[in-house]
Amino acid sequence: MPSRAKPKGLDTRIPVLGPAKVESPLTYCHFVSDEQRVPIRLSPEDLDDGSQESDVLFEPAGPRDTIYFDSSKVKAAIVTCGGLCPGINDVIRAIVMEARHNYNVAATLGIRYGLQGFIPEYGHQIMELDHRNVSNIHEFGGTILGSSRGPQKPEDIVDALERSNIGVLFVIGGDGTLKAARKIYEEVTRRGTRISVIGVPKTIDNDISLVTQSFGFDTAVEKATEAIRCAHTEAIGAKNGIGLVKLMGRESGFIAAQATLALKEVNYVLVPEDPFELHGEHGLLPALERRLADRRHAVIVVAEGAGQHLLRQSGQTDASGNLVLGDVAKLLTSEIGAYLGERGMPHTIKYIDPSYIIRSVPANANDRVYCGFLGQFAVHAAMAGKTGMVVSKVYGRFVHLPFDLVTRRRKKLDLTSDYWRAVLESTGQFAISPMSKKGSPACPITGEMVRT
Ligand code: ATP
Ligand code: MG
Repeated sequence: MPSRAKPKGLDTRIPVLGPAKVESPLTYCHFVSDEQRVPIRLSPEDLDDGSQESDVLFEPAGPRDTIYFDSSKVKAAIVTCGGLCPGINDVIRAIVMEARHNYNVAATLGIRYGLQGFIPEYGHQIMELDHRNVSNIHEFGGTILGSSRGPQKPEDIVDALERSNIGVLFVIGGDGTLKAARKIYEEVTRRGTRISVIGVPKTIDNDISLVTQSFGFDTAVEKATEAIRCAHTEAIGAKNGIGLVKLMGRESGFIAAQATLALKEVNYVLVPEDPFELHGEHGLLPALERRLADRRHAVIVVAEGAGQHLLRQSGQTDASGNLVLGDVAKLLTSEIGAYLGERGMPHTIKYIDPSYIIRSVPANANDRVYCGFLGQFAVHAAMAGKTGMVVSKVYGRFVHLPFDLVTRRRKKLDLTSDYWRAVLESTGQFAISPMSKKGSPACPITGEMVRT
């Protein structure tokens, strides 16, 4: 049941399980009024409905003085799905600690191996999470609960929640997971059951709509720069040395772009949003040949989803239905080798794929702080009876976002933005990525408005 009138434009209303009548057990904090709204200026990209940038009102995250649940009697559960990302354990820890220490929640259960953990046939044991067994988990990457891909029926999941008498489900995962969470929420609503479903968006690609920066992204960029630095060292260590680094980014090149800005050695950054050509006036290969003739080394950073238009698509999908991408690094190494070979230009290519190292490291200090906030805000939202929503930081403010808003589209690099222009200026690759239009929208990473 929606809590209030629909604002113009995006529907930011957050469903609630019912009226909040229980006094919060929190005694020491500034409470957020449920009537409060935070105006946030969204860019046309965020709005994605053809309208100009405008202020949209969002429900602020934070503790309410009256809550829906009698927290000492409620049981919570946490599930983590999809690929690994730095900071998942930090979010789990923050949820368990907040629930236990501040709301005195009766129990928090850990669902093992993603959505499979709800289905009895898999035989995964449920983990009891408490302040003792989560206290050190932020020191480690990955997820202590394990994860999986592949669909499970929302009806079966809600059956499992009802069997275990769970009142709150925290779902940590990416685009696919949040779509699954939405279906769980819809099934709960259809049954009229009082279970709160709260998401914490996880995407190392930073591609979830309206989520200005997802947790783990900062760590991923930091780790990616180490790989690029190594690629540069390899490149300068040989005549016509080429360092090639493949980074995550299936549909959005944020990690590649941000790592490029962080480390100035990158000469070409290839992202899914900007389909590059190998040959011709704007071709990568002739540009690379010119660069090598001039400087004798080059560093190329490529997002895994770049150059798919140049690859034959297998049409295969993973267990969750995600398309299996063609191998752009293989394409680049063979095409570069053939092109330079034909021109009698001896060269070496050193290829580095740091993806699994980046995904599995513990979060850095910034991401730890961020994950702590997300976990705490998720618990505040759940206890207040909110449901069908995620907690997120949007342009510097922690707010509640309905599932619909975060699953409607992927966030992508804006190739007309000052941010992307800064990336191109850093690499100097205007020969292969000419900017088509001028613009000055919000920087998609930091959320700052960048003006020319
Ligand atoms: P990542 O960022 O690592 O891709 P993700 O959450 O998108 O994370 P997926 O493997 O795509 O990872 O999905 C996680 C879970 O959500 C899987 O169990 C999957 O079956 C389920 N899921 C994905 N898409 C949907 C959908 N449209 N409807 C219902 N469930 C879905
Ligand atoms: Mg996904």
